[in-house]
Amino acid sequence: MKIRNLVKISTDTAQTIWRHLDDMNGMSAKRSDVLARIHSVVDQVADLGGAANLPGPSQQAYAWLKFLSNPAHFEAHVSALRLARAVFQERAPEPPISQFILEMTNLRAIYRFRQRGGRGVLKVSEALVYADRAVWEALFDSLFLGKSDARSALLNDYFRSEACQAVQKAMRVDAVSTDSPRANGQVHDLDASFERVNTRYFSGQMEKPRLHWNRRKTFVKFGHYRPDQDEIMFSLSLDAEDVSQELIDFVMYHELLHKQLGAEHKGGRRYSHTPAFRQAEQAFENFALVKQELEDLATRRRQESEQRNNTDKRRWIRTGRRKKRR
Ligand SMILES: [Zn+2]
Repeated sequence: MKIRNLVKISTDTAQTIWRHLDDMNGMSAKRSDVLARIHSVVDQVADLGGAANLPGPSQQAYAWLKFLSNPAHFEAHVSALRLARAVFQERAPEPPISQFILEMTNLRAIYRFRQRGGRGVLKVSEALVYADRAVWEALFDSLFLGKSDARSALLNDYFRSEACQAVQKAMRVDAVSTDSPRANGQVHDLDASFERVNTRYFSGQMEKPRLHWNRRKTFVKFGHYRPDQDEIMFSLSLDAEDVSQELIDFVMYHELLHKQLGAEHKGGRRYSHTPAFRQAEQAFENFALVKQELEDLATRRRQESEQRNNTDKRRWIRTGRRKKRR
């Protein structure tokens, strides 16, 4: 199994459970197949060092598979789908959907429905796993008859319930990304840095993006904000004793400014470091000093890297063996 297939595996798993819902009891072979597959994926991710460095959608898929790997959760999942199916059959629309698939999965929204020809795929949040009949009725009625205040209130009440919130929490990527030591560095803690910077420079109003140590020790770029993933990557070369907490906070601040200010588009080009950005950046305490520290660090890392390369070359000459560089 390749780890990049996680999203496909989770979709297949969700649909297989739905298609074989009556065969998901006790010792059935189909049920054992599904469970074995879930466990094998979860184990493989753990073997590869956890989910921290997977792309966002794979982390989402992994969080869901990990949740289902718990036997009690799996039972609850199957029961929920049976209840949902019963409610759907009572309330199916006219003309009927000949092929209806219900995927209960890691979805941020409550539900999403797509219909093409006679085929309808309804994706619902795994958080509905503990929903009672009334909640499912409200969901299907919202979908087929239209939303109403009463139906929305029922769904919202459920989504605020403790049981539901616990599932939502388990589905969040930061719940699984901390499985790996890579999310928290050996020296610096990104969560703590975010808290400091958010409190001090954003009045605590900044919504927390995902924070990751990158696998690679880049020294040209120390941080990078990805708006599509709402994620900040930090170069592992910052996770070292010779890097001050202040410097980590500065990189955090810089990347959070990217999140806050976005980019300007002019003539098909994207500008992130606009004059307004540069102005805002200077609000960081001791800006000039920290900026200098950052530049010194970049120089130091470049030198270290050159030294390593030279050592590698010498070794290559001596042993006559080509050393594969990563
Ligand atoms: Zn930048």
